[in-house]
Amino acid sequence: MPNPEMPVAFIGHGSPMNALAKNDYTRALGALGRELPRPRGIVCISAHWMTEGLWVTRMAQPRTIHDFGGFPRALFEVEYPAPGSREIAELVQTVVSIPQIDGNDAGDSDEWGLDHGAWSVLKHMYPEADIPVVQLSIAMDEGARFHFELGAKLRPLREQGILILGSGNIVHNLRRIDWNERAAPASWAAEFDAWVKERLDARDFDSLIDHATETEAGRLSIPTPDHWYPFLVAAGAICPSDQVDWVWDSIDHGSIAMRSFVASGRG
Ligand code: ZN
Repeated sequence: MPNPEMPVAFIGHGSPMNALAKNDYTRALGALGRELPRPRGIVCISAHWMTEGLWVTRMAQPRTIHDFGGFPRALFEVEYPAPGSREIAELVQTVVSIPQIDGNDAGDSDEWGLDHGAWSVLKHMYPEADIPVVQLSIAMDEGARFHFELGAKLRPLREQGILILGSGNIVHNLRRIDWNERAAPASWAAEFDAWVKERLDARDFDSLIDHATETEAGRLSIPTPDHWYPFLVAAGAICPSDQVDWVWDSIDHGSIAMRSFVASGRG
C-alpha cells in the first residue's frame, strides 16, 4: 500500500488560553504547520463538539465559536476565519456512510462552526486561516470502538490531501487541576500518559479502546470521554506503514496531558 499523502495528527489542546500563548508548545505547533505537507483541507475532530449521532459542518464560512466562560476579553476577540468546504463535508459523509452522520445545511450558520478545540490549535498551525476546515463531532451516544473505527473510515481521505486532526487531551481532569504554572504532573496522570504512549507505539489499539479505564490512573485521566475520543479517532486513521512521531509531551497543571502525535509515511 503506498503511503498516504497526508499525515494524521492528534494534538493536545489544554486551556483555551493556549490560543493566545507564545511558548515552546505553540512554537511546536507552528513548526508542524510549516513542515507537514500542505493539506488541501482539514477534517478536525474536536472534544468540544459533543452530539447525539455524528455531525459534520458544511457551511461555506464557519463562525469562530467562543465556547467557554471566565476568560479575558482578548480570547473572545480571537477569530479564525478559515473557509469551510461542502465538498470535503460530503467526502466525509461518503466515507463514513453511516445513517447517523448528518450535515448542517440551510440553517447551518446557527448550528456549529469552529470551536476552541479546533481554532486554538489551528491558529498556531495555520495562522493564515487559508485552508478549508470542516469539523466532525464526537458522538456521545457511541463508545470508544465506534470512534476508533470512525478514524479508520476517514483514513482514505489522507490519500486525497486531507489532514485528519484530532484535538483533545489524553489526560483531562479539570477537578484535579493545579493552577500553578509549574505544577508537577500528578503521578496517575504521568502513569496513564506513559501507558498510552507505550500502547500506541506498540500499535496495541485494542488495549487503548477496551482497557483504558480499567486502572485507577485511566479512570482519573478519562473522567468523561470527550477529550479521549478525538485521540481514538486519530489513532484509527493511522496506517500500518506509518511512523508515529510524538511531537509534544508535557503535562500541564498536573492533570492535563498535552501529548500530541503525527503519524505519517515519511520516515
Ligand atoms: Zn478542551
